[in-house]
Amino acid sequence: MTAPKVSLRIGQNLWEEMRAHILQPDNDEHGGALLCGISTTNSGIRLLGAKFLLAEDGVDYVPGTRGYRELTAAFIRKTIVKARDEGLVCLLVHGHGDGYSVAFSETDNASHERGYPALRDISGQTVGALVLASGAIAGDIWHKDGFRSELDVAVIIGANVRRLTPSPRAGLAVRPEDDRQAKLFGEVGQQLLRTTRIGIVGAGGAGMLAVEMLSRLGVGELVVIDPDKVELSNLTRLPGARPLDACRILTKPDRPEWIQRVGSRLSRHKVHVARRLARQAGQGTRVEAYPTDVRESPAATALLDCDYIVLAADSAAARHLINIVSHQYLIPMIQVGVKIPVDKTGAVGDVFTAVRPVTPDGGCLRCAGLIDASRLAQELLPDPLQRRLADYGTGQAAPSVITLNGMSVSEALTYATFSLTGLNTIDATTHIRNHPRRGYKAVGEPSRDSSCPVCGGTGITARGDLKNLPLPRSMSTAGQPSIVGRMRRILAWVAKVKPISR
Ligand SMILES: [Zn+2]
Ligand SMILES: [Zn+2]
Repeated sequence: MTAPKVSLRIGQNLWEEMRAHILQPDNDEHGGALLCGISTTNSGIRLLGAKFLLAEDGVDYVPGTRGYRELTAAFIRKTIVKARDEGLVCLLVHGHGDGYSVAFSETDNASHERGYPALRDISGQTVGALVLASGAIAGDIWHKDGFRSELDVAVIIGANVRRLTPSPRAGLAVRPEDDRQAKLFGEVGQQLLRTTRIGIVGAGGAGMLAVEMLSRLGVGELVVIDPDKVELSNLTRLPGARPLDACRILTKPDRPEWIQRVGSRLSRHKVHVARRLARQAGQGTRVEAYPTDVRESPAATALLDCDYIVLAADSAAARHLINIVSHQYLIPMIQVGVKIPVDKTGAVGDVFTAVRPVTPDGGCLRCAGLIDASRLAQELLPDPLQRRLADYGTGQAAPSVITLNGMSVSEALTYATFSLTGLNTIDATTHIRNHPRRGYKAVGEPSRDSSCPVCGGTGITARGDLKNLPLPRSMSTAGQPSIVGRMRRILAWVAKVKPISR
C-alpha cells in the first residue's frame, strides 16, 4: 500500500502570520507549530491550516544539543496536548531562509525518526514537520495509521490561489490549441487549469454557461450537481440543450397533462446535458455528473476534493451548505447571481448581476446577509409544502435571461481563473454588482462577524472531517439504509403483496 498524497491548504492571513515569524529578515532560524484540520478525500489527504502557535525565541526555541536550534520539550508537549484536545494535526515548523527549493537536513530527519513515533502516540493523531524557505515548502508527515509521506504541495488561498512545492516542478508542454489563452494564463497557468477540479453547483442557466466556458478553457475535471431535468422553458438559456432533451413532442403545452407528465419523466437531466456539452468542447474535460440535490451525501462529498467551487444554485439550502463547505474545507468559492425584480404590474426594477468570491479570510455569505433564514427553513420542509411556498404565492416563476446570466458567469469565471493562475492584482476578495440598466458597477468589501458560526474565530473554518456537514438525515449516508436493509424492505414489501412460497 502506498502512502496517500498529502497537501496543505491554508488561508493567506494565517500563512502570512506564520511566514512572518519563521522567515524573519534576521536570517536566523525560528520555529513554531501549525495546527491543522484534516480532510480525507479520494484524491489524498488535505491538511487544513487552522492556527499557528509561535515558539518564542530563547524560550521555546533554543540552541540545540544535536542541531543548530530546537523546540523545547515543554513547547512540543504543550502544542501536542492542545492538538490532541482539539482533534487537530500538529505540524512543527521551522525555516531554512531564502530559496526556491528546500529540504529537511539530516539532523532534522534524524530528530523526526527519534521523536515523531512517540508524538504520534501521545496525540493519537497524525503529526509532522514543515520547513519553509522564501519560495518553497517541504513537509514530513507521520500518519496516525502508520504511513509516513512527504508533503506534495501547499496551497495558499487569498485573492490568488498560490501553490508552493519543495522545488520547482517541470510541467507538461502547452498544447498548440491552448496557445492563444496560454498567452494570458502563462504555460504554468494553462497546465494548472488542466489539472484543476472545479465544482459547479446548479446546472441551470448560469451553471451551464460555466460548464461551457470551463470546458472550453480546458479545465481538467468538473463536478456538476443539479437534480433537475431540462424543461421546454429552459431552452432559451441553457447552452447545449436541445428540444429533444425536454421531450418537446410530449411536453408541448397543447398536449394532455398526462402526456406532458410522461414527457417530463423522459426528459434528460441537466447534468447529462452538461457532460455532453463538455465533451463537445473536445478539450478532454472530465465531468462527474450528480443528478441530485447537493445535500445528497455523494454529491456533497464529491465537492470536498475540488480546487474551486462555483455556486450557481439559487436555493438558500445550497448557499448555506456551500458556504460551510468552503470554510470548513478551505475551498475557495464564488457565488453568481442575477436579480430581475418585476412588480405586480409587470414593471421591471433595478436589474443586477452579482459575483461574490469567498475565501477563508474574507467573511462568508452568512455575514454578507445572503442566506435568508426563513427561506432556508422553508426549503427544509417536505417537498409538496415547499413547492406551494416556493413562488411566494405569486404562481410565477422568477424571470431569467441568458445575457444577464452570461454577464454574471463571465465575470465570476474571469475572477476564478485569474485567481487560480495568479493573475489577480487586488489583494482583497471584493463582491461585485453590475446594474446594467443604470450602467453602474458597485464593488464592496465583504463583511465579517467575529462571532459568526461559520467564518468567526470559533467557527468551523479549517475543521475538515472533524465536523459533520449539515446534510439532512434522510440524505446523509448515516441516515440511508444499507443495501441489505433496502433489500430486506423490498422483500418485506414483496412478501406482503404475494407471500413467498417454495
Ligand atoms: Zn532544519
Ligand atoms: Zn460569517
